[in-house]
Amino acid sequence: MGMGDFSNPFDLFESLFEGMGGMGGMGGRASRNRAVDGQDEYYNLVLTFKEAVFGAEKEIEITRLESCGTCDGSGAKPGTKPSKCSTCGGQGQVVTSARTPLGVFQQVMTCSSCGGSGETFSPCNTCSGDGRVRRTKRISLKVPAGVDSGSRLRVRSEGNAGRRGGSPGDLFVIIEVRTDPVLKRDDTNILYTCKVSYIDAILGTTIKVPTVDGMVDLKIPAGTQPNTTLVMAKKGVPVLNKSNMRGDQLVRVQVEIPKRLSSEERELIEELADLSKGKAATSRR
Ligand SMILES: [Zn+2]
Ligand SMILES: [Zn+2]
Repeated sequence: MGMGDFSNPFDLFESLFEGMGGMGGMGGRASRNRAVDGQDEYYNLVLTFKEAVFGAEKEIEITRLESCGTCDGSGAKPGTKPSKCSTCGGQGQVVTSARTPLGVFQQVMTCSSCGGSGETFSPCNTCSGDGRVRRTKRISLKVPAGVDSGSRLRVRSEGNAGRRGGSPGDLFVIIEVRTDPVLKRDDTNILYTCKVSYIDAILGTTIKVPTVDGMVDLKIPAGTQPNTTLVMAKKGVPVLNKSNMRGDQLVRVQVEIPKRLSSEERELIEELADLSKGKAATSRR
């Protein structure tokens, strides 16, 4: 390309900006009526502890931009025709010059009169020329088992409508899980702490433990040490998208030592103490 070819400044800028792609409104080829994709929409969904574990069917109400029915998304008042923008002469861009110590720089800007489309039109009364209107829609959602706080569900094409034929954005549902008063989540495991008396820890017992499947019997073996963790296999959270795999419930056993004893209990414990001393004495002999 010779130096004399730059009779139209747009040729220069188009060649300069070629290959820079994705510059949005700045530079680039301002093709007329270029499609603009719709933006993604976000929704925060609060779930109970159990809903997150087992999944849930939810109906949510979102507000987003939809294509305007009056103008069919064109933004132009029905029955009118768009005309060439007088500000940019239909190019969609304007060139401004700035004098700097390094010389005169020219900058290409998107035309503000036509928004880069190169056309002006009488705006549709319903959407004020945007081609889209804000509408509320109910969407049924299948939340899979095993989601956790911060999980994002993507619902394709349910975001904001695009402009001038652009594709719609997606809807992202961001999950927040309410805490449970007794069960704690640790990825796919569920943590629970139970208390048993020192007698039950010594002799062993069976206790009822809350799980996401309801109350379940847990055997505390004889001689259970304080802070032992007992595993309730497959009572945890299903693995996301592999709901046949499930974590465990981990039960930490706290052994309670009484602070006060009745006189009768005290006697028995002292008897027990003598017995174990006697045992010690026997074994020493
Ligand atoms: Zn409209
Ligand atoms: Zn213009």
